[in-house]
Amino acid sequence: MNAEQKLEILAADYDFDRVGSPEGVPSTRQTGSPACEGIGGGPGDSSPQKADHSPRLFKVLQSNECVHSCAFCPWRSGRDTSRATFEPEELATLFHRSHAAGYADGLYLTSGVRESGPVGMDAMLQTADLLRKRHEYGGYLHLKVLPGAERAQVQEAMRLADRVSINLETPTEAHHSALTTGKRLETDLMERLRWVRDLSSEFPLGSGVTTQFVVGAAGETDRDLLTRARELYQDFGLRRVHFSAFKPVIQTPLEARPPTPDAREARLQQADLLLRGYEMNLSEMAFTEGGYLSLHVDPKMAQALNHPERFPVEVNTAPYEELIRVPGIGPLSAKRLIGRRRERLIRDPREVALCGAILKRAAPFLLLDGRAVGHLEQFIRQELRRLNTRPAYQLPLFGEGD
Ligand code: SF4
Repeated sequence: MNAEQKLEILAADYDFDRVGSPEGVPSTRQTGSPACEGIGGGPGDSSPQKADHSPRLFKVLQSNECVHSCAFCPWRSGRDTSRATFEPEELATLFHRSHAAGYADGLYLTSGVRESGPVGMDAMLQTADLLRKRHEYGGYLHLKVLPGAERAQVQEAMRLADRVSINLETPTEAHHSALTTGKRLETDLMERLRWVRDLSSEFPLGSGVTTQFVVGAAGETDRDLLTRARELYQDFGLRRVHFSAFKPVIQTPLEARPPTPDAREARLQQADLLLRGYEMNLSEMAFTEGGYLSLHVDPKMAQALNHPERFPVEVNTAPYEELIRVPGIGPLSAKRLIGRRRERLIRDPREVALCGAILKRAAPFLLLDGRAVGHLEQFIRQELRRLNTRPAYQLPLFGEGD
């Protein structure tokens, strides 16, 4: 099989690995939509210049051979699918050519666990080393740390890469064992995250550390996922936690399981942003009794409806922490409002909108110089009535033996 044929199989343009999204790619281009994918552009695109000028990440697997059997994964051991493995020289040369021709701004290199964690990791490290030394590649490089990788390999990955990621896939050991028997969350994955944290002052990563959870494959709740995400931000300094809705793959043990609604993934991403960017506590999130976020209202509005005693807030005096809890006001608009009110008393709702707030959402929750901008009680009553007519989110019912 030649390199192009391998590339057909191993260009990892797959949907469920979000850690390879190009949001960490520094680009000299103007950033647009994060839609890069192609190696050599998309179908019919023979030009290295993409019209949207977005950073383009060369996403590829070193190998899709894997000794593990994660129940959701298309590359699980024993599944009947085309398999291929790049030699390090072959892949380094292929990427170098694509980069030199202007087809890619950066590389995201991942792999199945071929033979063992150390063997799979070694091939990726050799590829990265060839790129950095022989090809003098100085651009963006994101390396996956495989389960079972050795500490020295983790250190080498941090020396070579701008970003490393370790996909936890599930939030707890119990959920992990529901999906695979070959590896363990604590010893094969969390332990590697501890090494990354311990090594980070000696080998700082410009684009940080990320992980991914597959949402809905193991019966975990949103509370389970966000509890782990909070720990990863606080205790491990992760740059980003990605959530990827489970989609069934044929010829896997979960092929008959219904896909996770995309809305669940979207709500988790919104809640995650509140944890990261708004420094909200998990206790402020409005979970259903079963531990899920509502699919019908975004988590920030849900927290406001859940804590009516916090509102309305006076725009002219409220501290930053209170302003950013108002639906429709984000960190930037809160800072602008604070700057504006230093100059003069804000009395006109249009000034709130001029600072970037979404007035339609924020109005019921605001006072301007003591005067209510909207009708808080009426708004809350209406929203709760609307939400009570919608079914709460329920887990899809799984068949026996899943
Ligand atoms: S270890 Fe990774 S590649 Fe292998 S089966 Fe599990 S998820 Fe798939």
